[in-house]
Amino acid sequence: MRIGVDIDGVTSDSYTVWLGELNRYYGKNIEVLEDYHLELVYDVPWDDMNQFFVENVERLFMLPPPMKGAKQGIETLLAKGHEVIYVTARSPEEKDVTLRWMDKYEIPYENIIFAGMKNKVDLVKEWQLELFIEDYAGNAEAIAKSGIQVLLLDSTYNQGELPTGVTRCRNWMQIIKQIEKMKL
Ligand SMILES: [Mg+2]
Repeated sequence: MRIGVDIDGVTSDSYTVWLGELNRYYGKNIEVLEDYHLELVYDVPWDDMNQFFVENVERLFMLPPPMKGAKQGIETLLAKGHEVIYVTARSPEEKDVTLRWMDKYEIPYENIIFAGMKNKVDLVKEWQLELFIEDYAGNAEAIAKSGIQVLLLDSTYNQGELPTGVTRCRNWMQIIKQIEKMKL
């Protein structure tokens, strides 16, 4: 199966680290991220937060460890003959630091698509992906609506009811089990 895998919040445990960094920068003490949209959580303009990310890209992208079980999970998928294609909302300018991070943690990759402002649904179609692993409920819903099954990695910011075609998985182990059940 051709499986699309998101990076932030799925492969990289980005949000845990970003929460700490943003708390320090904005002088806040938010402990649980309940909304995926960080600019809303911190109540700052998107441009302002984007500037913080641009200026600290090296630190913010290199500091997070992989999500628990991600490396092993991805290796398992590849060993079972699946194709893994990463699709991230990171921009093409962030390719270099992303590849260094993947290398640092020895996470296997062949194709990484840097969507930037491009729509993930279009890329899922373009790359003929058959399943997508995502953490943002908004993307999950949009991809599922286009007819591609989605596994949503559980997080504090994606709680709530899920639309048809989206299956919540508690962790990477459950993701692997779910894919085995699908037998596509
Ligand atoms: Mg994500």
